[in-house]
Amino acid sequence: MADNYKTTKNIDPDTVADWRWQVISARPRRACSDFVYAVTTTGVFCRPGCPSRLPLPRNIRCYDTAGEAEAAGFRACKRCGGGIMPPASSSA
Ligand SMILES: [Zn+2]
Repeated sequence: MADNYKTTKNIDPDTVADWRWQVISARPRRACSDFVYAVTTTGVFCRPGCPSRLPLPRNIRCYDTAGEAEAAGFRACKRCGGGIMPPASSSA
């Protein structure tokens, strides 16, 4: 028994190992638009850095583009735009 081992009851190890989850869980202040993550429990997709509550890893599906998430039946988050709308401040 590895009692000291981190409890992973609610966490899908495959998701946690995914680099995208690392980005999501780090909640970057600068929105990252390299991918979006959809939340299966709410049916919306967000981009990393969204101010919404962090979902459980096992409820997350990652997509390369907002279009892919939409095609999978998710809709854009109203708070972050789901990656469709560009970040408010862009120097590009
Ligand atoms: Zn969002």
